[in-house]
Amino acid sequence: MNNFDKTAYWQDIDQAHHIHPFTDTADLNNRGTRVITRAEGVFIEDSNGKRYLDGMAGLWCVNVGYGRKELAEAAYKQMLELPYYNNFFQCANTPAIELSKVLAEITPEGLNHVFYANSGSEANDTVVRMVHQYWNLKGKPERTTIISRKNAYHGSTVAGASLGGMSGMHSQGGALVRDIVHIDQPYWYGEGGDHTPEEFGLIAARKLEEKIKELGADRVGAFIGEPIQGAGGVIIPPSTYWPEIQRICKKYDILLIADEVICGFGRTGEWFGSDTFDIKPDLMPMAKGMSSGYLPISAVMVGDRVADVLINECGEFTHGFTYSGHPACAAVALENIRILREEKMVERVKDDIGPYFAKALKTLEDHPLVGAVETVGLIAGMPLVDDKKTRKMFDKPGTVGTMCRDACVANGVIMRACGDRMVLSPPLCITKEEIDELVKRARAAFDETAKKLGKM
Ligand SMILES: *Cc1c(COP(=O)(O)O)cnc(C)c1O
Repeated sequence: MNNFDKTAYWQDIDQAHHIHPFTDTADLNNRGTRVITRAEGVFIEDSNGKRYLDGMAGLWCVNVGYGRKELAEAAYKQMLELPYYNNFFQCANTPAIELSKVLAEITPEGLNHVFYANSGSEANDTVVRMVHQYWNLKGKPERTTIISRKNAYHGSTVAGASLGGMSGMHSQGGALVRDIVHIDQPYWYGEGGDHTPEEFGLIAARKLEEKIKELGADRVGAFIGEPIQGAGGVIIPPSTYWPEIQRICKKYDILLIADEVICGFGRTGEWFGSDTFDIKPDLMPMAKGMSSGYLPISAVMVGDRVADVLINECGEFTHGFTYSGHPACAAVALENIRILREEKMVERVKDDIGPYFAKALKTLEDHPLVGAVETVGLIAGMPLVDDKKTRKMFDKPGTVGTMCRDACVANGVIMRACGDRMVLSPPLCITKEEIDELVKRARAAFDETAKKLGKM
């Protein structure tokens, strides 16, 4: 079979049997699946042999880049030695033990214990159960409410979707967990009106205090937020936001949860988004970059305040997964962290490639469609706008974003559209030449989109 016959063969089977995540399957079946067959560095290749620069690191996760043999070898070696054993019933495996120590070292001070799961969603389910059990043990079982934010993303299990603030998910049965409420997001570009970003950061943070007062502090258990909202469109909060959120959490004695599933493991130019924004979380779910996506693994870092109670006053914590601390996944995560450390990839994002990325992308701000270029480390959000001066977005959010995303793919660069915000999150190993290429292809895609809209 030649490549095109092979592609048709896979597309037919896929269409007949495969329901895709977060996909309009009828629409997909009309267009045909893009079958991705291999990858190296920052490039992926489809079954027709077309190469794309992957500006998203898969789904924000392939931090060390594709094709790292050490990770494959770590999994292979561990699978031969001990492919599986659980961490239940007085047992542990050595990769999970060693990974726990390393995670305690690299995460912010005060986070010294870890609970393993397999995905970001499961980590957040775990967080919900920990918050409830913590307050039960503290003799305040009525502190059940968790405050989250509109347009947050915390996963797709029932608890993850409920914690998230995606209205499209809630309307399909995704808001089933009780006592989760959502306040406004700190999205200055879209919602900040005439305020300065600094003023607006305080206004957005004080929505938390208003909500706590409305509910009564004795009913609120925790606040959860991504340091930078990822799937919501890379919403980078104004500098005033996180200090004010932390002041409020302290004042009302509310647990603070930083969802680091995207921000963690170097994305922001520090090990964690909590380092970048000086957040001191009580619970810290993480996943994605933890293994650079080579195998599924996630974890919740548990701060001393919660760990003390959960370990010493709980008896059995009746929660866990068959694959909590899976030895092969833990071995890959360990090797992934070794690479990040040894090759100083996080420092490189902070001091070298991150600043270069910001500077190169900023050149797109002269484009008639691009309202702004907002970056931290190697994550970026760019709103496509109808009117740059007034920051007016297009009607029917998502239409122009989807057009632009398709133009990106046609031009050989993978960029994602979150509504009408174009987002980037490339592998941390990206070179300066590759960034130049990314920007060139992005500009071509923006041009095509603008021409279609009659704006160029
Ligand atoms: C991706 C993501 C999740 C969910 O992770 P899964 O592994 O897809 O379950 C949770 N929180 C954030 C911030 C994410 O970006």
